Amino acid sequence: MLDIGLSLLAIHFTEPLSYFAYIKNKKLDLKENEDLPPVSVIIPSYNEKDKIREKIMNVLESYPREKVELVIVDSSDDGTFEEIRNIQDEISSGMSYLQIPRMKIIKTERRGKIFAIKEGVKASSNNIVLMTDVDAKWDDPLQNAIKYLHGEVGAVSCIKHANSSAENSYRDFYNVLRMGESAIHSSPIFHGEMTAFRKDVLSCDEIPIVGADDSTIATITALKGYRAVCVNMRAYELAPSGMDYVRWKARRGSHLIIHFTRYLPKVLKSENKKFKKVFAEEAYLHLINPWILVVGFAIVTLSDPILSLLMLSLLGLLYVPKKTRNVIKAWFPNQIFLIIAQMYALFKGE
Ligand code: GDP
Ligand code: MN
Repeated sequence: MLDIGLSLLAIHFTEPLSYFAYIKNKKLDLKENEDLPPVSVIIPSYNEKDKIREKIMNVLESYPREKVELVIVDSSDDGTFEEIRNIQDEISSGMSYLQIPRMKIIKTERRGKIFAIKEGVKASSNNIVLMTDVDAKWDDPLQNAIKYLHGEVGAVSCIKHANSSAENSYRDFYNVLRMGESAIHSSPIFHGEMTAFRKDVLSCDEIPIVGADDSTIATITALKGYRAVCVNMRAYELAPSGMDYVRWKARRGSHLIIHFTRYLPKVLKSENKKFKKVFAEEAYLHLINPWILVVGFAIVTLSDPILSLLMLSLLGLLYVPKKTRNVIKAWFPNQIFLIIAQMYALFKGE
C-alpha cells in the first residue's frame, strides 16, 4: 500500500517538473509585423467609477493614440457612465483632431462580461480587437503583443505578474509554461488583462458565452489551425483581498476547470498534434494532478503515519529559506484551490 502512496506522490511532482524542464527551453520565435495596425480596444465595465479613468489613460499610453478605437461597453449604475462621458469630453477638448482616439460608448443592461464583449466586437471597426478588464494594468507597450498578431498567429495574450513574492514565484513558473506552450504551438490559457484576436480568424458569433472567455478564444483559435500565443507583454491585475480573494480564485479556477472538461474531447479529436499535447498536459495538471497529491498523501498517512509526519517536517524545514518557502506557498495552496474549483464547477455550474 505504502508503495502506491509514494508512487502517487512521485507522479504528482515529477509530472509538472518534467513538463517544465521540457518546455523551458522552447523559444518563442515569431515574425514581427512591419507596420502597426489599428486596434479596437473593448473595455467591459460594471461599476468601475474609481478605476475607469486610470484604465483609459493606461490604454492610451500604451499604443499610438491615432491607431486606437476605444469601445467601452458599460452596464453600471454607480455613475461610471457619467465619468466615461467626462473623460471623453476632456480627451476631445485637450488634443488636436488627429490625436483624438475614436471612442464609442455603448450602454447595455448587465448580462455578464462576455455579453458585453460581444456587443463591443460587433460595434468595433478594426480587424484587430482586444478585450481588457478595467482592473488590469498594462506594464509594457501593447505593441509588444500586437506586432505578432498576423500570419499564422490568430490571437495573442499577455503574461501576468502579481504583487506578492509567493504569487510571483508561481507566476514565473506559470509564465514560462504559457510562453513555452506558445512556442510549441498555442497556449490553451489566455488572460483577461489583454486578449486580442483577429476578426478575419474568429467571428463574433463563434465566441460562446462561457466563463473562461479568454482561454476559450485561445482554444478555438488553435482548433482552427491558427496560433494563440502568450507573449512578453506584462500585465497586472488588482486582486481582491480576504475572503473575496478565496471566492474569486475559486470562481476563476472553476471557469478553467469547465474550460478543460468542455474542450478536451474536441481537442483530442483534432489533427493538431502539437496543441493536443499541450492541452492534454494542462487538462491533466488542472483536473487530475491535484487529486494525486491528496490521495497519495492519504495513503502514505494511513500506511505509515511516522513517514507522513517526517514528510510534513521536511516541508516545514523547506519553509524556512525564502526561496523554497515561496515555492511551497505557491504550489500547495494552488492544488487545494484547484480541488475547491472543481467542487465549485460541479455544484455551481459556472
Ligand atoms: P474577474 O476578474 O473574473 O473577477 O472579473 P471582473 O469582476 O474583474 O470583471 C472583468 C471585467 O468585466 C471588468 O472590467 C468588469 O467591470 C466587467 N464586467 C463584469 N460583468 C459585467 C457586465 O455584466 N457587464 C459589463 N458591461 N461589464 C462587466
Ligand atoms: Mn478582475
